[in-house]
Amino acid sequence: MVELERPVMKRPKLGQHFLVDKNIARKIVDSASLTKKDTVIEIGPGKGVLTELILPKVKKLICIEIDGTLVAYLKRKFAGYRNLKIIPADFLSWKPPKTILKKSVPIKFISNLPYYITTPIIKKIFNYKNWSTAVLTVQKEVGERMLAEPDTKNYGALTLFVKYFCNAEKVAGITSKCFYPEPKVDSIILKLGRIKTRGSRKFYESFSRIVNSAFKYRRKTVVNSLNRALGLDKTLIRGVLSGSGIDPSLRAENISFEKYINLTSSFKNYLLS
Ligand code: SAM
Repeated sequence: MVELERPVMKRPKLGQHFLVDKNIARKIVDSASLTKKDTVIEIGPGKGVLTELILPKVKKLICIEIDGTLVAYLKRKFAGYRNLKIIPADFLSWKPPKTILKKSVPIKFISNLPYYITTPIIKKIFNYKNWSTAVLTVQKEVGERMLAEPDTKNYGALTLFVKYFCNAEKVAGITSKCFYPEPKVDSIILKLGRIKTRGSRKFYESFSRIVNSAFKYRRKTVVNSLNRALGLDKTLIRGVLSGSGIDPSLRAENISFEKYINLTSSFKNYLLS
């Protein structure tokens, strides 16, 4: 393992665990398959371990860092790079300029995520209409939930939410020792590839409502869970489930993504309220 420069200061509340393994840093950046045509957004560059590997490979790199001290450090470290913009901001409230939102400019995201806001960041990435790829390091347990298969305890609303928007694959596992200060958890590098919209905003809202309702009472059968959470009649629910090819006696975790999509189509007339 190649040790990188230790951070001068650290703020664990901001998820500041800095990657100190250069081989892992290379693996993360390589898996984004960067080219000179790419525009990349790096969320939370920290002390720039990924930044310095991304910069020579891309047309444009935009780094969003919340910590002003790190922003000043990065500006000194990377002074002179014309393809780099370092923005002091909270990624969750940052409003990208129109040039970044252009559909003709596909965006790649790269980040060793600050784990305290993993899901909000992923939701925000999915809201971009022009993202193409995201290579993200997440907490191992969260990554396992994102990649889970039906009939397992990790399979849940997060799995289905991710599947709705992208193809997700595991690039590699990372032990906590690869970071300084060492976090309490291990990590996984994920590569997400966008799936173009599956349906309208309304369709997604119905899908989301059905999935959350099905998993709300995880130990119950799906018919009972939907009955309780949606307040719809059991006979009606049984009919819709059967019509979607779903055995009503199954539990939420036994139902595949494709079946949840079928179910959303079948339910659309009953979920207008
Ligand atoms: N990329 C660096 C590395 O791999 O060593 C740092 C990764 S560290 C896990 C997370 C980084 O995200 C920190 O630099 C932290 O200051 C920054 N950060 C935390 N919350 C943020 C937010 N809301 N918006 C932007 N950056 C944030």
